[in-house]
Amino acid sequence: MSSASHLDVLRRIRAPDEKPRPRPGERCELCTEPIAEAHGHLVDLQQRALMCACRGCYLLFTADGAGGTRFRAVPDRYLAFTDLRLSPGEWDALQVPVSVAFFFVNSSLDRIAAFYPGPAGATESLLPLETWNELVAAHAELGTLEPDVEAILVRSDRTTNHAECFLVPIDACYELVGRLRQLWRGFDGGSDARDALDAFFDHVRTRAR
Ligand SMILES: [Zn+2]
Ligand SMILES: [Zn+2]
Repeated sequence: MSSASHLDVLRRIRAPDEKPRPRPGERCELCTEPIAEAHGHLVDLQQRALMCACRGCYLLFTADGAGGTRFRAVPDRYLAFTDLRLSPGEWDALQVPVSVAFFFVNSSLDRIAAFYPGPAGATESLLPLETWNELVAAHAELGTLEPDVEAILVRSDRTTNHAECFLVPIDACYELVGRLRQLWRGFDGGSDARDALDAFFDHVRTRAR
């Protein structure tokens, strides 16, 4: 595709945004129906954006929904992979310089995206899908991850060589990244960021039970 036609595509995708958008969290971003504070989310696979959705729109885009392929409903399951142990070598292959990261499969790019928190919000690194496929071959439970809408959340403790590993909805990860961005101080995040991480993992552990 030439760069000119790339621009055309972008323009077409963006056109619907020119009408006034409801504030996320207040109204469904697809049909503008008012929604409760607790609501589901859709991933827009073209724009790679998270959208707040009413129940009806959410159901349209679940795995057996009739809504087509542009949007995908974010499932609400939390799973704890308590027996999963990433070896130091596997952790290194994921190229994450800090102790917390989440990973998801980006189906449009055929890549595994790794996000980890830092002073500038989330840093993203794209890894070849082979790295992920090798991990799935060694740890079959990782294969249950749904592309684009679920993430593997990992917190490693280098001193004990133990990594806690969960499958979580991708919107929970974005929420965590947003919270950490506000709290992060210095290189390692400081005590406020650590407290927020501890609280988040407590919440995930409870949900996964
Ligand atoms: Zn709706
Ligand atoms: Zn929302």
